[in-house]
Amino acid sequence: MRISADFSKCVRSYWRGSRCDKCVTACPAGALYIADGRVEAEPALCAGCGQCAAACPAGVFKLEGLGPRLSCREGAPCINALKLTDYVDLVEKYGEVEVDARCDECSLRGRGLEVLDEAVKLGLKVKAVRGRGGDVGRRMLLRAGMRQALRGEPPLQVARGSRGGCSTTSRSTWSGAPRGPWGLV
Ligand code: SF4
Ligand code: SF4
Repeated sequence: MRISADFSKCVRSYWRGSRCDKCVTACPAGALYIADGRVEAEPALCAGCGQCAAACPAGVFKLEGLGPRLSCREGAPCINALKLTDYVDLVEKYGEVEVDARCDECSLRGRGLEVLDEAVKLGLKVKAVRGRGGDVGRRMLLRAGMRQALRGEPPLQVARGSRGGCSTTSRSTWSGAPRGPWGLV
């Protein structure tokens, strides 16, 4: 599983006046930050939780390589990152999906459970395990720290758009021109 970020879709790449920082606020690992009006990324810090994908209204972050068993304890992102359309696509692809949703004690607990309930109510073939399972958010951050120490491949892969609105840690000058028709984000 990996999370790809195409920052050419970021609202800040189109509109200089944007104050959107939803991904930065959502990231528990400090892997995203704003500098010179753009979103910067430090993939080595990424914990692979997917909170950025859940928060971004512009579709910058995409989950790739999801399998039929979704468990944050086994390397999948937090279920907060999944939209109803993701469940539809996964059930279409695999026939049935198993979801580890033992979220009761987790610091990342959020709207993921509601979306999961919607998928089940819709009659999608989604098997969910619910209940208590500790704070996986903290464990994800610890794993990311160890991966960084061992220089393992981070789950966040960043693409730089031609408009240059956002980037990885290099800090080149913002050059995108404001263009519509984007809403105020
Ligand atoms: S997946 Fe990585 S960049 Fe996205 S919110 Fe989690 S730690 Fe931050
Ligand atoms: S549009 Fe998405 S990537 Fe850009 S600042 Fe907002 S939340 Fe972050």
